[in-house]
Formats: sequence, C-alpha cells, structure tokens
Amino acid sequence: MATTRVFVLVAPPGSGKGTQGVLLARRLDLPHVSTGDELRVSLYGGRLSQPNGAMGRGQLLDDNTVWRILRTRLEQPDCSRGFILDGFPRTFRQVCLFDEWTESALLGAADVLVIYLHLGMDEVRKRNDGRRFCPSCGRDYNVHYYPPRTPEVCDVCATRLARRADCVPEVLERRLAAYEKSTSVVLNTYSQ
Ligand code: ADP
Repeated sequence: MATTRVFVLVAPPGSGKGTQGVLLARRLDLPHVSTGDELRVSLYGGRLSQPNGAMGRGQLLDDNTVWRILRTRLEQPDCSRGFILDGFPRTFRQVCLFDEWTESALLGAADVLVIYLHLGMDEVRKRNDGRRFCPSCGRDYNVHYYPPRTPEVCDVCATRLARRADCVPEVLERRLAAYEKSTSVVLNTYSQ
C-alpha cells in the first residue's frame, strides 16, 4: 500500500489556515479538507442538527458527530494519496479517533505532518475583525489586508459583503477560549 500523505494544520480560528490550506493543497496536488466547511455543508443540507446552534455560538460539536462526517469525506477516492486537514483534530478524543482510523483504514501507512501556525491574539482578533465573504460567489476578503475595490462590495459580482455570524466579538472570544483549551492538548499529544 502506498503511503498516504497527511498534513494537519493547527492555528487559531480565523488566522488564515484555510487560505494556507488551499495554497498547500494546490502546490501538493492534494485535496484540502476543512471540517468547518464539511459541517456547514451537512448543516445546510439537513444532514446535521446541532444542539442549541453550537456552531453559531462558537462551541465545538461533539467528537463522534464531527468524526462521522469527516470520515465519510476522507474515505472518498480523491483522498487516497493524502489530504490537507484543516480544523481537525481539535480534542484528545479526536486525535485518538483519527489515529485508530489511520491504523485500520490506512493500515498504518500514513505519513502525518502537523503544521502549527503560531500568531499573537491581537493579530488573530484583527484578522477576524476584517474578515468578509461574498454570500453570492463565495469570494473571501479582509478589509485590513485585501479589501474589495469598493468598500463592502464584491469585486467579482458586486454583491454586498457579509460577515460570518461566528466572527462577532462575543462568539469569537468563545471560539478563542475553546481553541486555547483544546489545542494545547492536541499539540502536546503530537509533540510526543
Ligand atoms: P475556525 O477554525 O475559524 O473556528 P471553522 O470553519 O474551522 O472555523 O469551524 C467553525 C465551527 O465548526 C467551529 O466553531 C465549531 O463549532 C465547528 N467545528 C469545526 N471543526 C470542529 C472540530 N474538529 N470539532 C468540533 N467542532 C468543530
């Protein structure tokens, strides 16, 4: 069995790991798999119900639910050579589920590299504050770093830009707290 190349990106919410993940995926010709995107697709497609709107409130969903959805994606043929994992694992339990899967489904033939993007919390808050997307064509912007030509209007399709509901300061602080708590566990486990 050929080795499956796995890249795990760990970084604070909204720091740009999705952007880096897409660039890396293009460079390595591997799929970029974002748990946030997979969960949103399942949610809007009616295949996921979240207790008390956990995602919109910046809370982590339960490990088994996330893993059930992610595993289905990772078992698609385009992931057989490898993938860039963005947003997973975020808890010790998720590390264990992923390890068990690489041992059984991939017969231990996975080469896992964890990339940790470290940046200060002031910078993380600024990046989240500037984050916008076009609800029509999906293009991303950041008003501080790569603003649209006309403020708050999409360059491509002239639609008014929107903010993700979980980027408002109160929800962001909850996501940052969840990140700090769980990521240290994930990094400690992998550094061992
Ligand atoms: P960010 O990384 O900026 O927090 P994501 O798009 O990766 O944004 O995730 C959005 C939301 O989806 C999270 O706030 C959480 O509710 C849920 N989520 C994503 N990945 C996981 C995960 N591995 N475990 C539990 N919940 C997750």
